[in-house]
Amino acid sequence: MYCKQCGKELRDSSAFCEYCGTRAGFGKKQEPVNTMSIVGMIVAGISVFLNFWGLVGIAAVLLSAMGLIQINKSGEKGKGIAITGIALGTFSIIYGFLMIMLFM
Ligand SMILES: [Zn+2]
Repeated sequence: MYCKQCGKELRDSSAFCEYCGTRAGFGKKQEPVNTMSIVGMIVAGISVFLNFWGLVGIAAVLLSAMGLIQINKSGEKGKGIAITGIALGTFSIIYGFLMIMLFM
């Protein structure tokens, strides 16, 4: 592990470079959380309360699935978030479907 800024060798345990103070990058730990997966989970959270016959759940599953695809390509964080969004969204779709059945 070498400092990206000054090129000095760093100990694996140090989060910051001892020589120049630059934040040390540790591969995957430095990757940001995928935005699409966050949006997907927010929509999934909304879909639990504002179901709209499962339509919001469908949007949540689509967004989360897109997030998951992006994560697999880019190595970003947020896989758990995306999977939670898909699970919650699927629950909402089933719930919405049951609601339609009840009202018909
Ligand atoms: Zn440095």
